[in-house]
Amino acid sequence: MKKRLESVRERIRNAAISSNRDPDSVRLVAVSKTKPVESILEAIEAGATIFGENYIQEAREKFTALAEHDISWHFIGHLQSNKAKYAVRQFDLIHSVDSLKLARELDRHALKNGKIQQILIQVNISGESSKSGVEEQTLLELVREAGKLENVSIRGLMTMPPFFDNPEKARPIFAALRKLRDRIEQEAIANVFMEELSMGMTGDFEAAILEGATLVRVGTAIFGSRY
Ligand SMILES: *Cc1c(COP(=O)(O)O)cnc(C)c1O
Repeated sequence: MKKRLESVRERIRNAAISSNRDPDSVRLVAVSKTKPVESILEAIEAGATIFGENYIQEAREKFTALAEHDISWHFIGHLQSNKAKYAVRQFDLIHSVDSLKLARELDRHALKNGKIQQILIQVNISGESSKSGVEEQTLLELVREAGKLENVSIRGLMTMPPFFDNPEKARPIFAALRKLRDRIEQEAIANVFMEELSMGMTGDFEAAILEGATLVRVGTAIFGSRY
């Protein structure tokens, strides 16, 4: 585990340096979905501080078991509005907001919890109907509307490209997300911050860093295969 984590860190550093970026500008989200608490403990010992989970029920159990550890939890999976309550309770950042309905639910529960919920808007760049995420054409409208909510704070964008055998093929998608970020930034919408780009997984995180990723979500390269 320690070796694998160090190797991922090293690759992140190298990718950042080769694109003239500060290595500290890229944060690693260790994606622990389907992996047991023991594996997460090992990763904590090896220095991981941010964990990504996809399923609320599974995450709640881990959260309870690891409550005494000073780690940050990010939600990266598809989130149903009726689970917003649990997501707000335990996650520092929700990467996968793709509808105004969900943003409103998060806002409502954040208010109840006395919290400002940090969120990213998930964008479906490739336009494949099977992928979740808001379409590019409606992104700006969603950002404008969700930006009006007082108890959520939009910190940036997230995308998940379709699977490619070659990470270079994902690069145009990462570049497209960065351009969308830049465009939204130009609009200077109140309460909307565009500092985060969540993109890149085990197969393509270096390509994502070359295109500006600030959060990479890596599971398999740290925890091993899920199957
Ligand atoms: C599972 C998952 C990851 C991690 O994928 P790996 O290929 O194992 O690194 C990243 N992002 C999301 C949204 C995921 O669901």
